[in-house]
Amino acid sequence: MSECIVCNEAITNPVCMGCVEEEIKAWLCEVKPELVEELYTKTEEIDSGFGETSCILCHNWMSVCTYCYTIHIFDWLKIRAPELSKSFRTIFNFNYFFY
Ligand SMILES: [Zn+2]
Ligand SMILES: [Zn+2]
Repeated sequence: MSECIVCNEAITNPVCMGCVEEEIKAWLCEVKPELVEELYTKTEEIDSGFGETSCILCHNWMSVCTYCYTIHIFDWLKIRAPELSKSFRTIFNFNYFFY
């Protein structure tokens, strides 16, 4: 178990960016498919490509917690598609990851 390189909190529910990105991508494909390419770019921005924690879903190494990644995408979405920010929060911040 290691710490997130962004917020320095221990990663307690390790789901990597790739796995979260899949979920966000599936949602974006329905609501705003033209933003999917940009989503990949935003993920690369924050992805360091190393880490000491392995994802519980795909077992890839990860170094940024789900929370920081989700916030990173949320900040981008608020600017690019403000009309979607409310439903993003409902789907990804509260129901899916924080239980
Ligand atoms: Zn974090
Ligand atoms: Zn994963």
